[in-house]
Amino acid sequence: MEKVKRSLLFGDNKQHVLNGQHEFPPRKDRMVKSYNTNQTDWYESSYWIYAWFPFRQYGKSCQLSNFACIHCKEKELESHQYVYRPMFSFDKTYYCYHRRVRCKSCLKNFAEIDPRFLPQFPTIILERFKFTTTVRGYGIDLMMLYHFANLHPAGSCLG
Ligand SMILES: [Zn+2]
Repeated sequence: MEKVKRSLLFGDNKQHVLNGQHEFPPRKDRMVKSYNTNQTDWYESSYWIYAWFPFRQYGKSCQLSNFACIHCKEKELESHQYVYRPMFSFDKTYYCYHRRVRCKSCLKNFAEIDPRFLPQFPTIILERFKFTTTVRGYGIDLMMLYHFANLHPAGSCLG
């Protein structure tokens, strides 16, 4: 996954990320000749990548200095390490790359996709994030959730 991260930040996908592209399809098929059984090949052939770097991609519209810590409410945040988390959609599993931020005031850190932090983003940016998240667990595609919510009263979830 380190290789995937490098490609998003420095490699051939960097410009796409800066242009605001979020979704990157699997780069290999497991059946091709060059397929090995190492970890990177497995991930690259099985999962989509979702790049969510709002401060990098929409830096003009949102500055980290305007955001408050979810714990102490101070505006003393700094970017921390890059991490990823699985997100589920209809027929795909995404690995959502994002950052954690650290509060210089209370020294706690949390994910940029934390549901307590996301509401601080301007709506026009937040609507580009297609998942709903929990504090630590997996995320779920919002459209999928809406479909479930629609189907449930009709009893179709059980059929
Ligand atoms: Zn804090």
